[in-house]
Amino acid sequence: MKPIILQPGPQAWLSSSILSAYQDRYVARLRQDRYAHNVIRVYLASVAHFARWLDEQHIGLSSLCTAVLDRFLNDHLPICSCRQPVRRTRHELRTAIRHLLRLLETERAIRPIDEQDALSRDLARFDAYMRDVAGLAETTRRQRGLIVGRFLAQTFGSDDIDVTKIDTVAMRRFVLGEGRDWGAGAVRVAGSSIGCYLRYRQMCGDEVAKLLQAIPRAANWRLASLPDTLSPARIASPELLPENGLLPHLNCSRRINLGSCDEEGKHGDTCGIGGGDQLSLCIRRAGREGEDVG
Ligand SMILES: [Zn+2]
Repeated sequence: MKPIILQPGPQAWLSSSILSAYQDRYVARLRQDRYAHNVIRVYLASVAHFARWLDEQHIGLSSLCTAVLDRFLNDHLPICSCRQPVRRTRHELRTAIRHLLRLLETERAIRPIDEQDALSRDLARFDAYMRDVAGLAETTRRQRGLIVGRFLAQTFGSDDIDVTKIDTVAMRRFVLGEGRDWGAGAVRVAGSSIGCYLRYRQMCGDEVAKLLQAIPRAANWRLASLPDTLSPARIASPELLPENGLLPHLNCSRRINLGSCDEEGKHGDTCGIGGGDQLSLCIRRAGREGEDVG
């Protein structure tokens, strides 16, 4: 029988992944189901792409489920920058990986897909809560559903969802982006999504008050109003001068010889105080107090 040969890159992804042991049985099963040679090759290359992503995400075999497949299709695929040659056709990827999950289920490497769908059912109920109780728009609901689905898949894998087992530290790490240098906006979106899910579970009767309190809040500070320049009274204030009334020589890229600067500061944005060639203090008019003294 003609062997299925992948290109070296995808074959290397597959061979070095947690799926390598299942490659031959995957091909054998598709042959058994009478798929054409070319279709099997396309599906295997699609699985190789999935294998590469699993490896990158450090997802173990026992965590594989339809929610992980959804993450791959919804989160990774739109921004995929995996090296060519790579299969990126959504419907092919979905079908190919569903075949894989069925195989893994038969081999008892993962839990039956019918049981995995508990996560999908919970997410569907959460979506109904967001629509009917919280009155959220479809775009917001989709975004929150994806974030919460990712969090639950990551937290519970193929295990049952039990919110009382959610670790507050792990939850905080997820909201903060797990070292991905998320901005305040991303943290706020992740936090509000997880908070929304917890309020839904609270409505279902789960005890989640501590988790709700532990959600990190993104800082939303406004810069305090600061004076643009030092006022004349502030400049004349004795506290700016050392006890002997003289200023030490300070390094400044735009140091002005104060002897050549009149009261109005003819050097444009600079004025000075003090006296003598050795002693100078430059203050940029546009700078905030204390910002450009030096
Ligand atoms: Zn990719």
